[in-house]
Amino acid sequence: MLLIANYEGRSGTQLAAEFLAKKTNGLRAIIEGIKLVEANLDIHTVGMSSWPNILGELQLDASVMDGNTRRTGAVGALRGFKHPVEVAYRVLSDIHHEILVGEGAERFAHEIGALRAKNETELSLKMWQKHLAEVLTPDQASKFPNLRLLDVKSEAIDPEKMFDTTVYLSLDHEQRISSATSTSGWGWKYPGRLGDSPIIGAGSYADSRYGACACTHTGEMTIRAGTARSVVLYLKMGLSVEDAVYEAARDLTALETGYLAEVTIHAIDKAGNYKVVGLNSSEEIKYVVWQPGMQSPEIHSAEILRL
Ligand code: ASP
Repeated sequence: MLLIANYEGRSGTQLAAEFLAKKTNGLRAIIEGIKLVEANLDIHTVGMSSWPNILGELQLDASVMDGNTRRTGAVGALRGFKHPVEVAYRVLSDIHHEILVGEGAERFAHEIGALRAKNETELSLKMWQKHLAEVLTPDQASKFPNLRLLDVKSEAIDPEKMFDTTVYLSLDHEQRISSATSTSGWGWKYPGRLGDSPIIGAGSYADSRYGACACTHTGEMTIRAGTARSVVLYLKMGLSVEDAVYEAARDLTALETGYLAEVTIHAIDKAGNYKVVGLNSSEEIKYVVWQPGMQSPEIHSAEILRL
């Protein structure tokens, strides 16, 4: 058994580890862990109280994948529900589609009776307003929101971090490998922007025959390189988990133009090996590991790769 999660997701890892230790289905274990992160008001990049888009609306993304069946479920730009990761799971279990976005996702969440929530909080709206005050010219401010959003410089640095996500990978007692993600994407993003977290193959992928991978940070890059799927394919082709991650990192560095920045790649294989690499990261990248024998999940540091 094995659990890997990114540092932003640490508040849910104890619970996910307890579920895994109790021989719960690994996908259910990591969903329950992520739900704690989504409800955590101190994390501003996942679920409630995250930094909203440039219009002040919180649009949330999430995905799940069962590595036994390779069924997936994902939601994009979902508004008004507390647990996007649970809605993503219900896409997997309740409908013959793999991804639902926007109003369709909201309708689906309503029809399955998902828990509603006003995810925008006083704090997240205050930070959004502060951001607008910094980036809008007086003329733009007088017209907002009826202006060309393309002209708004929306990449300012927020008080915490502008983006992050939570990603979890698990290998359970029956050798099932699973992945799950949840995020608000980038603070102040253009409305409707999806990152890699709801895009299976980019931000996450799980196949119980080989392993799983999930990425954080610049989703614009992992979408273009198909990073999570690539790592699992490299495992299939016989590479070790380290070499699979290094190869996917090289694919990312071969991208040209577009928004190029940091990416963190988390990967596990079916034998319970794992590797986490921060590609071109400017600061230390931590992640969480739990394996049987550990009293509680441990915080480790990722290898930083500069390519
Ligand atoms: N990968 C996420 C996205 O692009 C953001 C992050 O992990 O920092 O939406």
